[in-house]
Amino acid sequence: MKKISLIIPVFNEEENLRTLYDALLPLINNELTKNPYNWEVLLINDGSLDRSAEITAELRSKDSRLMDINLSRNFGKENAMAAGFDLATGDAVIIMDADLQHPVETIPEMIHEWEQGWHDVYGLRNDRETDSWLKRRLAKIYYRILRRSTRIDVLVDAGDFRLLDRRCVIALRSLRETQRNTKILYNWIGFKKKEVRFDYRKRNEGETSFSYGKLFKLALDGITGVTTAPLRVASIIGLLTSAGALIYLMYILIKTILYGDPVQGFPTIMITILFLGGIQLLALGIIGEYIGRIFMETKKHPLYIIDTINGESEKNKSQS
Ligand code: UDP
Ligand code: MG
Repeated sequence: MKKISLIIPVFNEEENLRTLYDALLPLINNELTKNPYNWEVLLINDGSLDRSAEITAELRSKDSRLMDINLSRNFGKENAMAAGFDLATGDAVIIMDADLQHPVETIPEMIHEWEQGWHDVYGLRNDRETDSWLKRRLAKIYYRILRRSTRIDVLVDAGDFRLLDRRCVIALRSLRETQRNTKILYNWIGFKKKEVRFDYRKRNEGETSFSYGKLFKLALDGITGVTTAPLRVASIIGLLTSAGALIYLMYILIKTILYGDPVQGFPTIMITILFLGGIQLLALGIIGEYIGRIFMETKKHPLYIIDTINGESEKNKSQS
């Protein structure tokens, strides 16, 4: 019998976990799919500050298909998912959120497509009405820039809710960058992709932990992780301003030769200095982003550290 692993990152979800488990039961009892499967549910507790860890441990003690993994602190959803990819043993892996925003009813359809031979069956949101107008606009612009600067085409409405064949999981395991944007990595690894539409639900209980600040960091990690296009843009801007400066220089030179050089032009000097200073800082900032990432990667820190698996402590079994 084929085995399917569910990876569920959990961060402060004490109010959702029991509801989530109840919602998963018909699926893991093989009532929703045509073929029966062996199920494995990995609840990855990403350093929750509430009672999530207690609840996952309690659920696991009642149901042996569940595994509860406690990371040693909050490493972020991207890293929690990386832990899931490393530990999952299924022939396919399904990633879903713990807040019931991803409907369990869509999963049988994903499995059906997987059985038809697709490797990466991703959930595509029917609408983004649960998101604010600003978030939707920014996401659209971001993915347009990404598509233009790389050959990677990430769909705005596709996210982490997806089924991955084992071959995709093995590929993802080999990508150990610490500044991760997994949504882009799914596309980077390739394989046969197929969409499945679903209705994005409102969060069951609690609040989203992704502020605009966190999303901005994720967006930067995505861009700098797959392309050096911003560096090229900095060079091009530099080239254009130098060309402009050269033309202006000639103009001043000729003007001085023809009409002499009365001391004037304070505004011109100020504007030039400020403009060039701004451009230089911008270029330095872009270079700095990349250097910062080089620094983070050279440390070769593990993506996450596991405290316990099913209540047993993992002695120095951290993953690089
Ligand atoms: N999550 C996590 N670590 C974090 C933040 C979030 O594991 O640092 C989990 C969270 O418990 C949920 C999923 O990631 O299962 C999505 O988080 P959230 O609902 O806050 O984000 P959104 O739905 O707004 O994308
Ligand atoms: Mg959510």
